[in-house]
Amino acid sequence: MKTITTLSDLRAARQLLHGSVGLVPTMGYLHEGHLSLIRRAKMECESVVVSIFVNPSQFGANEDLSKYPRDLKRDLNLMEPLGVDLVWNPTAEIVYPAGYQTWVEVESLTRPLEGAIRPAHFRGVTTIVTKLFNAVQPHKAYFGQKDAQQAAVIQQMIRDLNFPIEMEICPTTREADGLAMSSRNQYLQGADRPAAAILFKALSAAKSAYAGGERNAKNLRNIVQETLATEPRVQVQYVSCADYHTLSELDTVRGKSLLSLAVMVGKTRLIDNVTLE
Ligand code: AMP
Repeated sequence: MKTITTLSDLRAARQLLHGSVGLVPTMGYLHEGHLSLIRRAKMECESVVVSIFVNPSQFGANEDLSKYPRDLKRDLNLMEPLGVDLVWNPTAEIVYPAGYQTWVEVESLTRPLEGAIRPAHFRGVTTIVTKLFNAVQPHKAYFGQKDAQQAAVIQQMIRDLNFPIEMEICPTTREADGLAMSSRNQYLQGADRPAAAILFKALSAAKSAYAGGERNAKNLRNIVQETLATEPRVQVQYVSCADYHTLSELDTVRGKSLLSLAVMVGKTRLIDNVTLE
């Protein structure tokens, strides 16, 4: 496993990789969710590249960029046994040198949900992912269902910009109580941690109602809201029941749909989702 910082070293090392290349973009502080993406890439591709970069441009001015957890040594130890070929860990100056002024934007898919609350977030995501695609030139790229809107936005960008890259969306890895794994779970202090289990409980309650025949999207959103309301530490930002592909809010659930939410648990912002199909 080779760890690389500069773009020229990355390009040189990329040239030496054999066969199909899988890319797993991450912001580091790896957990089992990230490792599941890496294992899947390793199964499907001859070579695997992992990027670790806390991308400043996807954080808003009042968000957690400066306190986002970072521990490269720990990350490298977790990846070593998985057979990762290259780890790219650039500095912000390498990715965004002085005078940088080019951005990639996906339009309507980035407006609702996360985009409504974090207005510049997806512009940062699509720009860094484009730069990663250009630098690594992977055959396949691996993303998590945990960030469902991000996955939809990147899929749209791949189509619109004709990247010759196959995108794989991997299932959400969860803790024993259902909490979706996230580097940000580190922030959950004391009673906030057990309280956070309510997110998946709420989504699961609505999913059970769907399995029982409920197709009214408002009723499904209400089930999520009402379950979340039983936990006083939780403040809801949004609960959505939307078309899986367009992310437009639904009246009636017909095709594949996405039930998603964003909440604050104490001072920690968490997102989660399940699909209905
Ligand atoms: P991040 O480091 O949080 O930017 O995540 C890097 C990639 O891992 C993204 O594609 C995420 O969607 C994915 N990911 C994060 N958490 C999970 C999880 N619990 N299960 C599966 N994939 C995840």
